[in-house]
Amino acid sequence: MSEAKCSNCGRSDEEVKLIQYRHKGKDAFVCVHCLPMFIHG
Ligand SMILES: [Zn+2]
Repeated sequence: MSEAKCSNCGRSDEEVKLIQYRHKGKDAFVCVHCLPMFIHG
């Protein structure tokens, strides 16, 4: 797996900082811009 993308906005780690998390046994990423929405929504 070479490319990480924000699961919310789709931006890659070339553009934004991504934070890795796990959901339902799968690794996924969310960027720092989407993280506040992601936590509260
Ligand atoms: Zn994002």
